[in-house]
Amino acid sequence: MRIFVSKLFFFCITLTTVSSIAQSDELAKRLFEVHKTYREGSLTQRRFKQKDILPLIARRQGNPLYKIESVGESFEGRTIQMIKVGNGKKKVLLWTQMHGDEPTATMASFDIFNFLEGKNDGFDDYRKKLLENTTLYFVPMLNPDGAERYQRRTMQGIDMNRDAASRQTPEAVILKGLVDRLKPDFGFNLHDQMRYSAGRSPKVATISFLATSYDYELSINPVRERSMQLIVGMNKILQKYIPGQVARYADDHEPRGFGDNVQKWGTTLVLIESGVYVGDPEKQFIRQLNFMAILSALDKISDNSLTKEKRDEYYDIPENGRWVYDLVVRNATVRQSGKSFLADLGINRTEVNYANATKFFYYSKIEDFGDLHPQYGSEEIDATGLTIEKGKVYPTTYKNVSEVSKLNALNLLREGYTYVRLATDSNTRALGLYFTTSPLHILRGGQAAPSGTPGLGNTATFILKKAGKVKYAVINGFVYDLDNFNGGKGQGIIE
Ligand SMILES: [Zn+2]
Repeated sequence: MRIFVSKLFFFCITLTTVSSIAQSDELAKRLFEVHKTYREGSLTQRRFKQKDILPLIARRQGNPLYKIESVGESFEGRTIQMIKVGNGKKKVLLWTQMHGDEPTATMASFDIFNFLEGKNDGFDDYRKKLLENTTLYFVPMLNPDGAERYQRRTMQGIDMNRDAASRQTPEAVILKGLVDRLKPDFGFNLHDQMRYSAGRSPKVATISFLATSYDYELSINPVRERSMQLIVGMNKILQKYIPGQVARYADDHEPRGFGDNVQKWGTTLVLIESGVYVGDPEKQFIRQLNFMAILSALDKISDNSLTKEKRDEYYDIPENGRWVYDLVVRNATVRQSGKSFLADLGINRTEVNYANATKFFYYSKIEDFGDLHPQYGSEEIDATGLTIEKGKVYPTTYKNVSEVSKLNALNLLREGYTYVRLATDSNTRALGLYFTTSPLHILRGGQAAPSGTPGLGNTATFILKKAGKVKYAVINGFVYDLDNFNGGKGQGIIE
């Protein structure tokens, strides 16, 4: 009988868990779908500045839903504002873009405001529960000077996420002041990250989490445990949309970091990092995932259902790894000093800002060379039986880039010409020209032509030949298959 009762009890527990998972899945699905309705239409790409979000905050002044407060000034004198919404007991502080070039969650925050203002869309009960049980304090774009330059660090050249202890930046003083004054129960530290793999898998980490450690021993107290539980909940939801593409940072303690210190000061802190999703350079899909994951987590905070999640499942999430490149070329035959050998090439396409950091172009480098069999490329070329070579410089010199753009690039590439030279008096830099839409590598006047075998540290421009015939041209890290040519898919470089 005893056994029977306990079995029945276990059965009931299981049923409850199953139904709560089903409920949070259902909520997440609906949030994912409704995002398009509430997406802030004025933010469409990542290099927006504070001037672009100020009108979005100003238009909410006087709206009884919000209380808007100036909480201080950046080093360069930009006013930083906090938007308060809700009247509940549980206080949640969410800040974005303490690194100026990490704006995905800033976009998602304005989508969340639009959503909170909505009605008659099936979410009225959700909003009522959320705003009755929680008070949300949003600080979008904590580092506006960095955002102005699209750089990680503040105007002072300091990484404010290593300034939580010393607090030499006004932005860190502001954040510490808010944590001290509000004593939030929960904190969301919202970032973007570079390209990582999810563990050792070929998949790139689209969202990574961290339940920051408050000591070197990586202890788990109830404050940190709740952070793990929230992450476990968000991971389950995200797996439906980005299977295998959620990861977590190693939980080493960083005594200078805000995440680590906020956790130490007693606020349950969740770090969310928006990573990479192939085919989403402006991170609009990842923005939608942020919207869904954050609102789902807030729901779990509002009814305390986060405590149903098992903290140990946190460790089932793979760690961020360095196992994936944008492009891997496999098994290329390299000819050097009259000998030949096989090598793989790992290539990444890096964004470089221009036009006052309102735009970017890609610059691609060979970042590793040799055996890369444990690594993967988001894009891969099998170069078995192909020989890698530098391309040749076309003998004609051109006056400007627009002359080059009129050339038949396919014909040039077929003949092994990857480089085109500009006249010595061409002033591409003065004109702000750094790249070309032509699939060619343009050499500015006076630039020496690259020589030797393509290798480590070189710009990723080369050809792959099969039986003496060019099969692939790789120009600035973009691959062109000459048998199936699409010249508009990449970006050439002016170097
Ligand atoms: Zn960051």
